[in-house]
Amino acid sequence: MQLVNLKDEHQKVSFTEAVKTGLGRNQGVFFPTDLTRLADVDALLDLPFVERSAQILAHLIGDELPKDTLTEMVQRAFNFPVKLAKVDEKNYCLELFHGPTLAFKDFGGRFMAECIGLFNQDERVTILTATSGDTGAAVAHAFYNKPNVDVVILYPEGKISLAQQKLFTTLGGNIHCYAVEGSFDDCQSLVKQAFLDDEVKQKLGLNSANSINISRLLAQVCYYFEALAQLPKEQRTDVHVSVPSGNFGNVCAAMIASVIGLPVSKLSATTNQNDTVPRYIESGEWSPNETIESLSNAMDVSKPNNWPRVQSMLDNGQFNKREFYSRCVGEQRTQEVMREVAAGGYIAEPHTAIAYEGLTLDKAPHSTGIFLATAHPAKFKESVEQVLAQQIEMPDVLQQALNKTCLAQPMTADYDKLKAAIFSKLL
Ligand SMILES: *Cc1c(COP(=O)(O)O)cnc(C)c1O
Repeated sequence: MQLVNLKDEHQKVSFTEAVKTGLGRNQGVFFPTDLTRLADVDALLDLPFVERSAQILAHLIGDELPKDTLTEMVQRAFNFPVKLAKVDEKNYCLELFHGPTLAFKDFGGRFMAECIGLFNQDERVTILTATSGDTGAAVAHAFYNKPNVDVVILYPEGKISLAQQKLFTTLGGNIHCYAVEGSFDDCQSLVKQAFLDDEVKQKLGLNSANSINISRLLAQVCYYFEALAQLPKEQRTDVHVSVPSGNFGNVCAAMIASVIGLPVSKLSATTNQNDTVPRYIESGEWSPNETIESLSNAMDVSKPNNWPRVQSMLDNGQFNKREFYSRCVGEQRTQEVMREVAAGGYIAEPHTAIAYEGLTLDKAPHSTGIFLATAHPAKFKESVEQVLAQQIEMPDVLQQALNKTCLAQPMTADYDKLKAAIFSKLL
């Protein structure tokens, strides 16, 4: 697999290099130079999830990874189910929250940990990542107690749910957490600064686990195939998928799946009130506002890192621009949708409700809709219980995490201070 830096076409790297470096020169993201179509998608859809996923990843990554190794990595990474729940006659919910930290980020985080484990066997690695809520937990759990790896996680203090926070700040060991005074975008820009700092890069063996890391995106391509595989055959021909979007990594993976042959021609990337992309689609102007706090906090992102990748597939015609929809769903409407969906018998947390609303807004009546449940409702217990006025059950992993002490250190959004703190801790 060859990837090109979307900000510098002269920088071309292999999959291994892209995974190890994360971000390219000038803070450009890497993207595959070729996305060739799979030979026989119908036959693939008949395979079990892990076997099919290994084939898809082998197709994308090529001969850089031996097939047997890749299969074992996928087996370990995807050791929990994906479920497609029927919500009504035309709409299905793709539940991606059955992993260890109850959000879809387990897929990317765990596959990335497998890749780093393979590529950096004798070198020391520090994973530095910003989280808007769910990445932190997924990455922390995926790398917890792995030899030669330290994980540094930055999160916006007070802006993520308690369950989200406690799932990673209570681990200790090789997981180091900083509660940053600021927004997710502030955390993300601290991470970007660290990647421009050669001293930090060299001394720590820096790697990012953000969705800018290509291994995470490729892992996510796999569950879109699983969604179609679980759909009744007669409904597979006209499918519209709605992805609740913040950093636009998940919808980017959906688009890659479509480009390599998954029969999904319509995509909605639905946002909360942080609506940089919907406004851009409407007006052609890229003008991020200040990040606003929402019920769907994992999507409180106003400068989505993955947008250049999505844009490249739209610009070069790999995905039809007219079939790409992006709308914003406000706070009030999010709550109404949560109640409407609950009245129909399905409990959706705020991100999932926004994805559902994307289908209501854009789906043609004859199309089959699939909306993504990106997190378990219990991860947003406070807001779900308040909006629905009903109690929801706490899974054991969450209850246990909630009972433990938060070990994060407070930090201002100041790069030099952060650097000093990390150096004193890790060197
Ligand atoms: C991260 C996250 C999103 C947004 O996904 P992106 O790939 O950043 O667009 C949506 N929902 C939940 C629950 C998340 O954790």
